[in-house]
Amino acid sequence: MTDDKRPTFGIVGGGFTGTMLAVHLIEQSPVPVRILQFDRAAAFGSGVAYSTPNDKHLLNVRVGNMSAYDSRPDHFIKWLEGCAMEAGAEPRGPFVSRGLYGQYLRSTLSACLAAHPASSMIGIDAEVVSLTAGATSVELRTADGARHTVDRVALCVGNFPPALPVKPRTGEAGEAHYIANPWSGDLSRIGRDDTVILVGTGLTMVDVVLDLHSRGHRGNITAVSRRGFMPLPHRDVGPYQAFLTPDTLPKTVMALTRRVRREVEAAAANGVDWRAVLDSMRPQTQALWRGLPVAERRRFLRHVRPYWEVHRHRVAQPVAAEIEALRRAGKLVVMAGRLQSVELGATGVSMTVKARGDNSAQQIDGTWLVNCSGPQLDYDRISDPLIRSLFDLILARPDSLSLGLDLGENYRLVSKSGVASEVLFALGPPIRGNLWETTAVPDIRKQCEAVARHLTGTAA
Ligand SMILES: Cc1cc2nc3c(=O)[nH]c(=O)nc-3n(C[C@H](O)[C@H](O)[C@H](O)COP(=O)(O)OP(=O)(O)OC[C@H]3O[C@@H](n4cnc5c(N)ncnc54)[C@H](O)[C@@H]3O)c2cc1C
Repeated sequence: MTDDKRPTFGIVGGGFTGTMLAVHLIEQSPVPVRILQFDRAAAFGSGVAYSTPNDKHLLNVRVGNMSAYDSRPDHFIKWLEGCAMEAGAEPRGPFVSRGLYGQYLRSTLSACLAAHPASSMIGIDAEVVSLTAGATSVELRTADGARHTVDRVALCVGNFPPALPVKPRTGEAGEAHYIANPWSGDLSRIGRDDTVILVGTGLTMVDVVLDLHSRGHRGNITAVSRRGFMPLPHRDVGPYQAFLTPDTLPKTVMALTRRVRREVEAAAANGVDWRAVLDSMRPQTQALWRGLPVAERRRFLRHVRPYWEVHRHRVAQPVAAEIEALRRAGKLVVMAGRLQSVELGATGVSMTVKARGDNSAQQIDGTWLVNCSGPQLDYDRISDPLIRSLFDLILARPDSLSLGLDLGENYRLVSKSGVASEVLFALGPPIRGNLWETTAVPDIRKQCEAVARHLTGTAA
C-alpha cells in the first residue's frame, strides 16, 4: 500500500508509444503524476524498433517526419543538430540509425522528468500477464506474481510475431535451427557460411539480411513470400497537393485504387513521382479506412495490402542499394511462392514451396530458417498471455476483422459485451483494426498526445 496521492498510470510497453505517452502525461497533467512502466524486454525508451545497435539499421522515415511530438515538428532535427554541434560534426543525412533514434527518445524522456521533478516514473522489467479492472482502478499482475494497483492502464504493447504459415514438422532436435523471432538476438547463432532461408520479403527481411551482412555472413540467403514483393526505395520528392478530401473519400476499394491510379498517371504525365502522390494521402489514410465498410476493408486486406505495404512503407536508398547489390552478387535470392511444408531437422531445415506462376514444387534446403513474415495480423491466433487473458476475462475483444483490439472513443478498450472501459486504453499497433495506419511515429505520436489529454482531463 502507498499513501502517495498522485494520479498513478500503468503503461504496458517501453517502446516509442509507452515512452511518449509517459512524456505527455507528465507534461500535460496539471498535478504531479506517478507512472509505472512495464517492459518484459527491459526495452525502456526504445522498444523493438529502436533497440538495434546495428548502424546499418536506418529509420525508414525521414528525420524531418520523426519528431516525437506532433506539435513540434522540428524537435528531432533540433536534437540532431545539438548532437552534431556537441561532437563538432556535420548534421547527418535524412535517414539516421534507429539506435540513434532510441537515444533521442530516452533523452526526451530524461528532459521531461528533469523539468517535472514532482512527477516520477518507475521502469519495471517484467511481463504483465493479466489485468483486473475495477470502476476506478486497475490491478496489473506480472509473470513473477507481483501485483501493482494504478488508476488507469494504457496498453502500448506493439506488434506480436506471427507463426509460420504452415505448421513445421520437427524431429528430435526440435526447433534448433529455427529462429521464430528475429529480434531475439538469436541471429548471432548463424555461422558465417551457413545457408539461410527467410520467410517473408518485407522490412523485417531487409533488417535480417543487413544484420547478417554486417556480421560478415558469406552463405547464401533465400527469401520467400507469396508475391516476392520487397519494400521500394524512398526518393526525394516534393509535396503534392492532396487529391482526396474528407468529402471525396472513396467508399469502395475498387473506387479507391482507380482514383489513386488515375492520380499517379496524371502526376507522372507532369513528371511527378508516384511517391509524392502516395505521401499526400497520409493525412487521409485513417479517415479513408474508417469510411470503408467492413467487407471493403476485408477486400483491401486480401487484394491491395501487399501492394500498399511495399509502396507505402519504403526503405532508405542506401539500404535498398545494399540489398540490390547482394541480389546481383547472387548472395540473396528472392522467390515468390506459397509455403507447402517445413521440416526442421537436426542439422538444418528443408522447405517446399509452390512457385508463383508455374506452380512447380521447389525444395529449398538451408542451415537456418528465420521467420521474417512481419507482425501477426490475426488477433484470434495470438498466444500472448496478456492479450489472451484480456479476451478470456472479457475485458477486451478483437475488432471486427481481428486485426487488433476493439476500441471506443478516446482510445478506450471495448469489452466483449461492447462497453468502452473507463480505465483501460490502447494505442499504437494493437489498434490497427480501427485506424489501419497506426505503426509509424507520425501516426502514433498524435495518439500519445490525445490519450494523455484525456487521462489528465486536459482535452480541449
Ligand atoms: C524493425 C522496425 C523498424 C521500424 N522503423 C520505423 C521507422 O523508421 N520509422 C517509424 O516511424 N516507424 C518505424 N517502425 C514502426 C514502429 O512500430 C513504431 O515506430 C514504434 O516504434 C512502435 O512502438 P511501440 O512502443 O508501439 O511498440 P514496440 O516498440 O514494439 O514496443 C512495445 C514494447 O512492449 C513490450 N511488451 C509487450 N507486451 C508486454 C507485456 N505483456 N508486458 C510487458 N511488456 C510488454 C515489449 O517488450 C516492447 O518493448 C519500425 C518497426 C520495426 C519493427
